[in-house]
Amino acid sequence: VLEVEHLTKKFGGLVAVDDFSFEVDEGEIVGLIGPNGSGKSTVFNCIMGIYGVTAGSIRFNGTDITDDSTHQVVNKGLSRVSQESNPIDSMSVAGNIKLFTLPNSIVSLRGGASQAEIYDYASRIDIEDDLQEMPDELPHADVRRLEIAKALATEPELMLLDEPFAGMNQAEIGELAAQIERFREEGMTMVVVDHNMGGLMELVDRVVVLNNGDFLASGTPEEIAEDDAVQEAYLAGEGL
Ligand code: ATP
Ligand code: MG
Repeated sequence: VLEVEHLTKKFGGLVAVDDFSFEVDEGEIVGLIGPNGSGKSTVFNCIMGIYGVTAGSIRFNGTDITDDSTHQVVNKGLSRVSQESNPIDSMSVAGNIKLFTLPNSIVSLRGGASQAEIYDYASRIDIEDDLQEMPDELPHADVRRLEIAKALATEPELMLLDEPFAGMNQAEIGELAAQIERFREEGMTMVVVDHNMGGLMELVDRVVVLNNGDFLASGTPEEIAEDDAVQEAYLAGEGL
């Protein structure tokens, strides 16, 4: 469903992503890993139309979306959970989810998602009991779930998750991985970014590794965990 071909993104003289290609098939969960600053978030920002690309192309369901705006990309069925949580602290969890449905052209015609729809998005990621809470009263793991509920609220076919497990303990990582598995059973395709294999080992079908903006390796989680070139790329950093 997603084909990224020869993607290059430069910021002035800095080449953040360098001729990087990867694709995702329907129903897959693909892991995209790489050390700090390797370009993972930039790839997502290019796909989502946040950054214009320097070169290369991006296709979704056979349609070229390289030059689409974020609004267009979202309406075509792509959604992204940002690496940084950015809830509006003066609005309830329910309000935050509803707000995210407003840019969706179909839903916005009737003023955003209904209460029942908001409850449904929240319950798919198990935060339905928190709907009336304020985001700054929630534990970190639930704030991250709110970010996922917001992404669900645009009813994506393909969801890009940028470091969903960051800052979570082992129990929380296991719980979230199980919830992400459920999305797959609901028919969703996903790309999950992380620094390392931590939460991805049991979750993903395939891993693609970025290093300094370049494709480094791809394979099953087991293959990647044992890949010498990947180990070496991680030696300078926090380890695989
Ligand atoms: P992390 O693991 O820390 O999240 P990452 O793999 O997501 O890292 P990116 O955030 O994509 O890496 O950054 C890749 C490179 O591009 C870095 O050198 C970063 O400083 C640079 N970069 C990213 N966004 C911008 C921007 N808006 N302007 C200038 N440079 C940027
Ligand atoms: Mg990042």
